[in-house]
Amino acid sequence: MFDPLDLLMFSRSSYYLLGVFVVAFVIFTTAAKRPSPRCPRCREINRPMACYCAHCGQSLGKS
Ligand SMILES: [Zn+2]
Repeated sequence: MFDPLDLLMFSRSSYYLLGVFVVAFVIFTTAAKRPSPRCPRCREINRPMACYCAHCGQSLGKS
């Protein structure tokens, strides 16, 4: 027997999994590809997540 409800549930769960996968992939790729911020004042290359220059304390401004 073929129950349309099974297909509905299956498609919903697969869309959910697909959504989770896409979100995880986007987060991973943006984190991986995020360029190391270079200080505008002293040209120090800082950690990717840094908000301030580790060398001179200049804000690495995300505007
Ligand atoms: Zn600096």
